[in-house]
This record gives sequence, structure tokens and C-alpha cells, in this order.
Amino acid sequence: MYKRRGLLIVLSGPSGVGKGTVRKELFTQPDTNYEYSISMTTRSPRVGEVDGVDYFFKTRAEFEDLIEQGKLLEYAEYVGNYYGTPIDYVDETLDAGRDVFLEIEVVGAAQVRAKAPNGLFIFLAPPSLLALQDRLVGRGTECSDVIASRIQKAREELEMMNLYDYVVENDEVSKACDKINAIVVAEHCRRERV
Ligand code: 5GP
Repeated sequence: MYKRRGLLIVLSGPSGVGKGTVRKELFTQPDTNYEYSISMTTRSPRVGEVDGVDYFFKTRAEFEDLIEQGKLLEYAEYVGNYYGTPIDYVDETLDAGRDVFLEIEVVGAAQVRAKAPNGLFIFLAPPSLLALQDRLVGRGTECSDVIASRIQKAREELEMMNLYDYVVENDEVSKACDKINAIVVAEHCRRERV
């Protein structure tokens, strides 16, 4: 019998929005139905982080070899370190019909979008960004330097949002998790169409 391929779920968003916290909360829930793809990184482990659990910790040379060999679905340099998603794990898990969850920054998410347009892309947004968006739409006439640079940054982030299927506001971690789970369920139902 034909077995449906799993769904590739990508959670991304601006730095500092709390992607890691939301992802960790999702994976403490007993009924979580998707597999977490453990990333490769060249950054040093933080206290308490375990190789093969939090990340696969690699040297720069090892990471660059993986890039050369085409072993990464996506990768990006973030604050001086490489981060990337191992392609074999993602492919094998999807082929087995299970959903895979990536929690990655926005440059990598754009690469995944280009390679796997059928994935499910969720943008985690800071509540302040959405509030700012509302104000911009309402007025848009401020001129002080600080406001102008905030607006510029917000615009860049808003433009990134357009690459995504859903925007989830991270006002409260548990609410954001509920929304993500609901989106995944809805997407499965939507994809039941033939
Ligand atoms: P941290 O060093 O705080 O664990 O992660 C830094 C940033 O890298 C976070 O925004 C996190 O989402 C992102 N990140 C983690 N793994 C990957 C990955 O495999 N690919 C990409 N592009 N970003 C990642």
C-alpha cells in the first residue's frame, strides 16, 4: 500500500524570539507526533548540552567536509558559527512516513523553502513586532532615528514572514505550542486531498 511521506515542519523566526524554548516545550509533550532533527554546529557545547542530543558538535573542518559532500539540507553561519541540518536523517524519516521538525534560523529556512516547497513553514513572531506592524499600518509617519531603524528592522522581518505559511505570535509559550500543534493537524487534513 502507498505510504504517505511525512511532513517537513520548519519553525523559524528572528533571533531572540524564543524558537528554542518553544521547540523544547513541544518535545516535552507526551503526544508529540513528530521527530526532531538534531542539527550540526561548530559552536562549543553550553553547560549541560550533550553531543547527539542537543546538537552534533563538529569542528569547522568537519562541517566544511559535510557541506562539500552535500550532506546538509541547509546551513547558515550565525554569530560566527555554522549550523546545519543533516539531510540523510530528514530524508529517511520522511520516507518512513514520519513528520520531521526543524528549528532553524531564517537564512537556513529560506534554503529549505527553495528545496522543499511542500514543507510547512511557521514563522514565530515576537508580540512586539505584530504590535509595531499594527502601528505602522495605522500611522507610518514617525521620523526619529530610533523609530526609523526599528521600523527598518521590523520591515525586514515582516518581509521574511511572507516566505512562511503561518505566523504564530509568541506571546506565551504554551499558547504558541498549542497553535503549532493545531497547524500541524490542520495541514495533515488539508493534505489528505488527492
Ligand atoms: P543556539 O546557538 O542558540 O543553539 O542557536 C542559534 C541559532 O541557530 C538559533 O536561531 C537556532 O534556531 C539556529 N539553528 C539551530 N540549528 C540550526 C540549523 O540546523 N540550521 C540553521 N540554519 N539554524 C539553526
